[in-house]
Amino acid sequence: MKPKVVILGSGFAGFGAFYSFVKKINDKVDITVVDSSVFSLSKPILPEVAFGERALNEALIPIGKYIEKYNHKFIRKEVKLIKPDTNQVILEDDSIIAYDYLIISLGAVKDYDAIEGFREYGYSICDYTQALRFLDRRANLIGNNVVIGACLTQWGSASTVKTLAAPCEGPIGEIMFMLDHYLRKHNRRSNTNITVFTPGEIFFEDVGERVHKNMEPIIGKSNINVVTKKILKHIDKEYVEFEDSSRLNCDMAIIIPPYRGPKFLIDSNISDEAGFVPTDKHMRHPTFKNIFAAGDINATSMPKLGHIAVKQSHTAASVIISEIMQKEEIIPFEPEILCIMNRGEEATLILSDWMYGGNRDLTFNGKISKLMKMGFDAFYFYSHGKMPPKWSEDYLNKLLVKCLNK
Ligand SMILES: Cc1cc2nc3c(=O)[nH]c(=O)nc-3n(C[C@H](O)[C@H](O)[C@H](O)COP(=O)(O)OP(=O)(O)OC[C@H]3O[C@@H](n4cnc5c(N)ncnc54)[C@H](O)[C@@H]3O)c2cc1C
Repeated sequence: MKPKVVILGSGFAGFGAFYSFVKKINDKVDITVVDSSVFSLSKPILPEVAFGERALNEALIPIGKYIEKYNHKFIRKEVKLIKPDTNQVILEDDSIIAYDYLIISLGAVKDYDAIEGFREYGYSICDYTQALRFLDRRANLIGNNVVIGACLTQWGSASTVKTLAAPCEGPIGEIMFMLDHYLRKHNRRSNTNITVFTPGEIFFEDVGERVHKNMEPIIGKSNINVVTKKILKHIDKEYVEFEDSSRLNCDMAIIIPPYRGPKFLIDSNISDEAGFVPTDKHMRHPTFKNIFAAGDINATSMPKLGHIAVKQSHTAASVIISEIMQKEEIIPFEPEILCIMNRGEEATLILSDWMYGGNRDLTFNGKISKLMKMGFDAFYFYSHGKMPPKWSEDYLNKLLVKCLNK
């Protein structure tokens, strides 16, 4: 009997783990992927969907077709409980899947309802419904005060790494620059104030001084105001209010809501009190040794970033493959921030391991970065959730360090 690997969730981390098995031991393992959706949503494309630059279908990768292509099984159902003592996953219709190894890659829940007034007046770009609502509203932005920012996330006790006030501020940067670009392009920029807030001590808390120094003039040139240490409490029709009772005039608030894990993981006794799954450096659960977690659901993934999700999934899969093949070939998890922020005509690539004690803290601005983003998005979409080859990432890394150290 082949070992049964069950992967819950098919986003960056789920696909990352799946393709690791396919590449290394496809015919020696029996994989089942479970997702509540038939499509995997590529969230980095959502800001472009929100601004009408791309169609939604460019962000949606059908899951089942590509899992089945490699002779594995896809189940489109919602997971409602895990029974770690009996190695079982319970689905929405009470059907049961047994596993030898379980990879939890369910992403994080975006808790819009934690912010009073969000459902009435708030906007976001964190899922496709919200991105389409934004697209609908975008046409009427003239003369508005727009406030953009991420909410404070309360991490649980299993987040033993350095935590951030906001789960991920890259999309905030992207939205503010894209909005600035959009309004300038339509000769409407002078009518609109753009203010960005962060719950952190500093905007982009996850990168170091060098990136901040490079970003400041770009933010300044775009005439974007930044306010720090602001914890969003309430969104109203004409203002937003923060925990310290201060207010900002606001006709349109665009937010990243607080993140949390799903409640059923707490009920399954697998997660911490915030619903995030604790793991060791190999993404293995400290108590249930055949359970792994990768991506946004992992309590140690900080910030919540696709690049980190993929790296964690590669580590988790390599540990399982090593056990199955009885050959020690573990891919260590070496965290780094790598993301590309669309700024309209151009983009900014950020590569930084400052937060993890490293000394890379770089930005690369311009049209080439924009082309790299388009290249990555296209590769991910047309390869059905695969990552560009490792050599291209290594080459990019070397090239950037070389260019930027000149
Ligand atoms: C607007 C936006 C832009 C971003 N841009 C970037 C970027 O440019 N670069 C970058 O690196 N990161 C970016 N990120 C972050 C990145 O998208 C996430 O870190 C990444 O998607 C996390 O991957 P994941 O696999 O952990 O979770 P997800 O991608 O969220 O996947 C989780 C999967 O689990 C499924 N699922 C959830 N609950 C259940 C359940 N109970 N039962 C069954 N299935 C379930 C979901 O349907 C989903 O398919 C962005 C995030 C946002 C919101």
